[in-house]
Amino acid sequence: MLPDLERLIRLQELETAVSQARRAVEAFPARRDALEARLAEHTGRIEAVDRKLAEHKTARRALEKEVAAVQGRLTRFKEQSMAVKTNKEYHAVQSEIAGADAEIQRLEDLILEGMLEADELADDLEKARQALAEEEAAVNEERTRLEQERDRHQGQVERHAGDRAALVADLPPPHLATFDTLIRGRKGIAVGAVRDGRCGSCQVRLRPQLYNEVRLNEGLIQCESCQRILYFPAEADSPSPAPR
Ligand SMILES: [Zn+2]
Repeated sequence: MLPDLERLIRLQELETAVSQARRAVEAFPARRDALEARLAEHTGRIEAVDRKLAEHKTARRALEKEVAAVQGRLTRFKEQSMAVKTNKEYHAVQSEIAGADAEIQRLEDLILEGMLEADELADDLEKARQALAEEEAAVNEERTRLEQERDRHQGQVERHAGDRAALVADLPPPHLATFDTLIRGRKGIAVGAVRDGRCGSCQVRLRPQLYNEVRLNEGLIQCESCQRILYFPAEADSPSPAPR
């Protein structure tokens, strides 16, 4: 292969890798925020159960106060029942006592019901806390992985100028100028492989003569449609693997 063509291919690989790395670095904050959102969802669930438990506590205290009040009335009715003079008075007080007893029973049923619900909520809370702990572990692992990936990409971006200088050191300036013009004007692709007789970038079919010239990889040949510099990939004779 023509050494300049090989250099241009490697320069294209570098530019493609660096622009991917740059996009990955830019995407990092959003990916990290998405991780934090996963935790926030769990924290929100825990807070909701916590609030419900607090409501239950308040309701239970109110019911217990009511029970105490009814019990106070009951004590007074029982004292009154000792002092009744007539049958009518006796029946009236007995009816009040029965009413108060029923009310206490009703309130205590409500308290018991609330306690059962609170037990279930406490179970839910425990489960939600466990789920949060598991999610935290998963998120921390994922965050570390993302940060390492970001650092790797960041390093690639920072090394770009040096890597590029090394690659272009032996490249004649006019070739580099063509490359730079193309990469700016052609969506980051200045050098592209020929696949199935077509320019792999713009898909235009090559004239047979041009195709045969490209196959040799011994010249800098540009696509007649998109102007990109063409080369014939080594693997092109066999079914081509997915481009990287
Ligand atoms: Zn083309």
